Amino acid sequence: MVSMDTLTIKTENKFRSLVTKQAYTKGQVICEIPTEKVINKANRYTVQIDRDRHTEVGKLSALNHSCDPNVILDTEHLLMVACRDIEKGEELSFFYPATEWEMDAPFICLCGASNCIHVVAGARFLPLSTLEQHYLNRHIRELMVELLNNTELHLTKLLADAEK
Ligand SMILES: [Zn+2]
Repeated sequence: MVSMDTLTIKTENKFRSLVTKQAYTKGQVICEIPTEKVINKANRYTVQIDRDRHTEVGKLSALNHSCDPNVILDTEHLLMVACRDIEKGEELSFFYPATEWEMDAPFICLCGASNCIHVVAGARFLPLSTLEQHYLNRHIRELMVELLNNTELHLTKLLADAEK
């Protein structure tokens, strides 16, 4: 078990962030994603790990979103991994739509990255071209394919109806 001892929560003006006390290199495992409490609905303290399973992540709930993140949450192996080199004292962040299909509390992103998505509401609200630029977990890819197939079915039906 890789512990979370290297991570600390910083609070500034009620705004929480998760900071690392040690440096990591790209690809290095930082900690495991806790799964002691899994529920069927998203909230501010959960991470989506499957189509309808959300795990309460404790300290990791202080992880902020970034459109140019430095960690990924691999929900298949339940690990948080550095996706680039990270310095000691750096804030950790991940791309929320990589795990979240439909968020409980959407917000406006002000990360300032050139590829900023602005509205962070979950993967279902993003175009495929945007999602493709990011690491995505399997449940997100599956739900995306499903949504596209349903849309195609719907369009086919509309066309068929129009031709009647
Ligand atoms: Zn952003």
